[in-house]
Amino acid sequence: MRGVAKERGVISEKQPFKCGAQGYIFAPKSYSRSFFCKKWTCEKCRNRRIKSYENILKATDLAVTSYVSQRPPVTTNEEKKALDNFLSQQIKGQYWTVRSDERIVIITKCKHPNAVRLQSKYIIETLVVDILNEPWKQSFAQRFTQSHERNEKRNKKQVQAKVNKKTNTAFAKWKRHDDPNGETALEQFEKLKTDYERAAWLEGHVDEVALYDRGREIIGQYHAEAAPPRSAAGILYQCTV
Ligand SMILES: [Zn+2]
Repeated sequence: MRGVAKERGVISEKQPFKCGAQGYIFAPKSYSRSFFCKKWTCEKCRNRRIKSYENILKATDLAVTSYVSQRPPVTTNEEKKALDNFLSQQIKGQYWTVRSDERIVIITKCKHPNAVRLQSKYIIETLVVDILNEPWKQSFAQRFTQSHERNEKRNKKQVQAKVNKKTNTAFAKWKRHDDPNGETALEQFEKLKTDYERAAWLEGHVDEVALYDRGREIIGQYHAEAAPPRSAAGILYQCTV
């Protein structure tokens, strides 16, 4: 989690973020990948996110029809409390909420107060898409939520663990996106076989790369190896005296 935040910070600070740009990652097996801004105002990212929420809904065992109710958006703590109470007390079984600045829609499998029955296909492919395309400023609330938080949290942890596994083995990222020099550097780096060589290379490109924890680690080891250990220095001193 922390690694990802750092990564983003570096990008916004050093250069304007170009969504979908190719970034170059230095790792034991180096690779390039696209970086996305993930903003709702970005059409490309909005469509990607909408697709992912559509897929979540499609993967649930909704019947041919489901129940939907609509509420005005939440703007105060009292309204938030009222919504939370409604969700916990009036809704039986699984539910999903989808929000925009204009409305909150609650989707359930079973009937709930003020709900209308609609075709699930219409809900997923049209209604939810429409809501998610509406303006969204309230970034403090989640646009899409689902009940069964226990499962959700566990899944999130698993996904996070996977992400961490990948970023933990990476040493650094080329600061500039879409940069032919980054691609060349990646090819160069791939030929290095030991962490000692990699650390030396990273040190030589310190202005061009953003180091990850693992990169700092091997550079630390590199310096420790390059400097004579204290005990050896002590022995050397004894000998010369
Ligand atoms: Zn974007």
